[in-house]
Amino acid sequence: MLKTIDGFDRIGEENAFAVLARATELASQGRDIINLGIGQPDFKTPDHIVEAAVKALKDGHHGYTPATGIAPLREAVSADLLKRHGVETDPDDVLIVPGGKVTMFMAILMFGEPGVDILYPDPGFPIYRSMIEFTGARPVPVPIRETNDFAFSAEETLSLITDKTRLLILNSPANPTGGVTPRSEIETLVAGLEDHPGVAILSDEIYSQMTYDGMEHVSLLEFEFLRERLILLDGWSKTYAMTGWRMGFSLWPDSLMDKARKLAVNAWSCVNAPAQYGCLAALTGPQDAVTEMVAEFDARRRVIVDGLNAIDGISCKTPRGAFYAYPNITKTGWKAKKLASALLEETGVATIGGPDFGVLGEGYIRLSYANSTTNIERALERVKLFLEKDQLI
Ligand code: PLP
Repeated sequence: MLKTIDGFDRIGEENAFAVLARATELASQGRDIINLGIGQPDFKTPDHIVEAAVKALKDGHHGYTPATGIAPLREAVSADLLKRHGVETDPDDVLIVPGGKVTMFMAILMFGEPGVDILYPDPGFPIYRSMIEFTGARPVPVPIRETNDFAFSAEETLSLITDKTRLLILNSPANPTGGVTPRSEIETLVAGLEDHPGVAILSDEIYSQMTYDGMEHVSLLEFEFLRERLILLDGWSKTYAMTGWRMGFSLWPDSLMDKARKLAVNAWSCVNAPAQYGCLAALTGPQDAVTEMVAEFDARRRVIVDGLNAIDGISCKTPRGAFYAYPNITKTGWKAKKLASALLEETGVATIGGPDFGVLGEGYIRLSYANSTTNIERALERVKLFLEKDQLI
C-alpha cells in the first residue's frame, strides 16, 4: 500500500460531477434526462470570443506566456474591475488562473494548516470545506440561513472569528442558494473586520454579474482598508458561458502576489495561451451577450420559483443572484439526498441534494435554471407528479 499524506483521507469532492456522470449514463441508456444538476450556462460562448482564441492560435500564440498571464489581459481585468466596481487595481496584482476554482485552492493552501481555523459558508461551494480539511485546518461553518434570505449574517460571521482564524471565505451571489448579501450587511461585516487585522478574506465573486430584481452586487474590493488582505476570486466561466475553457482571474494583496505567482509556476507554468486571447476579447468586446444571458436567466428564475411554489410540500424563496433555486423540501417528508436521487432515477430530473453543500443543507435541494424554459417546465411537471403520486402511497 502506498502511503500518501493524511490530507487525502480528508479531501472531498463535488457531487455535482457525480450526478452529471449518472445523468449522462442514464441518457446514454436512452432515458430522457433533464439536467438541473450542474451549474453551467447552457448558452454557447459568444462567437467573437471563440474567434479571438482561434485567431490567436493561427497568429502563432501557441507558446508559454508569463506565469501571471499576458499583460493585455491583466490590464483588461483591471479595467473591468474599474468599470464594474469603480475601483483602481494594479494589473501587477492580477493573476490569470485555469478556472475560478483554482483561486480558492491556492488561497486555502496558503493559509490552511493544523491548529488554525478557516471560516466558510455552509451551505456553500463544497470545495471550500474539502480543501480546508485537506490542509488540516479546522473548517468552521458560517451558517447561511433561509430566514436571512440566504445572505450571510455579519453578526454571526464576526462572532465566529477567534485568534485562530486565518482566513474567512465569503460568497455573494451565492452557490447553492442564489442568495445575495445586501450592502448594509457587508458594511457591518467590513466594519467588524477592522478589529481582526490578522484575518485574510477570500471573496468568491464568480457570480458577480448575475443579480436580479435590482439587487446590487457589492464587491469587497470597494473597501480600501481590506485590500492588503483581500483575495478576489472571479472568472469567465459563468459570465461568458466558458466553463470548459477553464479560465479565471484573481486579485492578490501585494504581499501575497509573489507567493501566488510561485505556486502558479510550480503547478501549471502559465494558462493556455489562445484561451487568454479569448478572455481578452470577452472583456474588451461587446457585452450584449452577457446582458442577454442574464435577462434569460431572470425569466427562467421566475418560471422555476413559481413552479416550485405550486408543488405541495415545496417552498422556494426567490433567489436574487446566480442561477440556482434552493427550495425547502422538508414538508415533502423526504431526506434531501434521497429525494434528489429518486428524482433522477424515477423521473429523469437531475438536481443536487442540499447536504452536498454542507451540514446545513438538509431539507433543501438545488436546481440550476441554466436550462431552457421548456425543459424547466417539463422538469417541474415531473417533480410535481412524482411527489403527488408519492403522497398517495
Ligand atoms: N465558486 C463558486 C461559488 C462556484 O459555484 C464555482 C463553480 O461552480 C466556482 C467558484 C468555480 O468556477 P470555475 O468553473 O471557473 O472553476
